[in-house]
Order: sequence, then C-alpha cells, then structure tokens
Amino acid sequence: MADTTVKPQIQEKQTNCPACNKPIKKRKKYYRNGKYYCSKKCYKKTLKKEAKDEAK
Ligand SMILES: [Zn+2]
Repeated sequence: MADTTVKPQIQEKQTNCPACNKPIKKRKKYYRNGKYYCSKKCYKKTLKKEAKDEAK
C-alpha cells in the first residue's frame, strides 16, 4: 500500500482519474464536484479519502 504519498497536481486539464490515476476516456467520464472520475466507484473512493482528510 503506497497510497499515502501526496503529489502536487496541476489542475489545468484533468485527464486522469483522481482516485485510480488512470486516464479518463471521453465517453466514460463521471463528473462530480468539479472533477472527472473514470467511474462512480472512483468518485466514491475519492469522497472517502477526502472525508478522512477533513476529519483530522
Ligand atoms: Zn478511476
């Protein structure tokens, strides 16, 4: 599990999924809260992550 490293992200053209970091295909994008995800699953994954960060 090497998921703890936080890399600075340039938010100009988001082409990768914030959850799994895979490139998002135009047809399969899932748009929520100003960000694109490759699927609903990844969106929920990111939500959980952010909730954890805010709980600090
Ligand atoms: Zn994803």
